[in-house]
Amino acid sequence: MSSIFTSIIAGEIPCHRVWEDDQHLAFLDINPIRPGHCLVIPKREISYIFDMEETEYTALWNAVRTVEKKIRNATGCQRVVVSVVGWEVPHVHVHLIPTDEMANFPAPASCDFDASEFSTLAARITEAKE
Ligand code: 5GP
Repeated sequence: MSSIFTSIIAGEIPCHRVWEDDQHLAFLDINPIRPGHCLVIPKREISYIFDMEETEYTALWNAVRTVEKKIRNATGCQRVVVSVVGWEVPHVHVHLIPTDEMANFPAPASCDFDASEFSTLAARITEAKE
């Protein structure tokens, strides 16, 4: 079954488009964290950003930078915050959220974590295969 974003690309579901090229589409998030919150997506449906081929991956981030400039120029915001989540829609998308202060992007609370585990975890990740 194709993703809701593939339906948007196909024009079966409406969106507020802000930019596109052959491989990407950018549109307003339907449930914005801040006014001007956009999503940039590859037109080829793929679930997980780090499974993308190198050239597609690089092209996506170049598209993100293009849209970031447009958002900053349009909103006059100080920083566009970028986030990649993907738990709700399994079609790669990068969130671009205009912000003027830290409080504009509420970060998740840090986890309950025993400081003695830092060394163990750092070692485990250091030694893990790439
Ligand atoms: P994530 O998968 O990164 O957790 O969240 C998916 C994002 O897509 C959410 O911010 C949600 O508001 C947005 N979204 C989900 N469905 C639609 C839709 O049909 N249209 C638009 N414009 N955004 C959507």
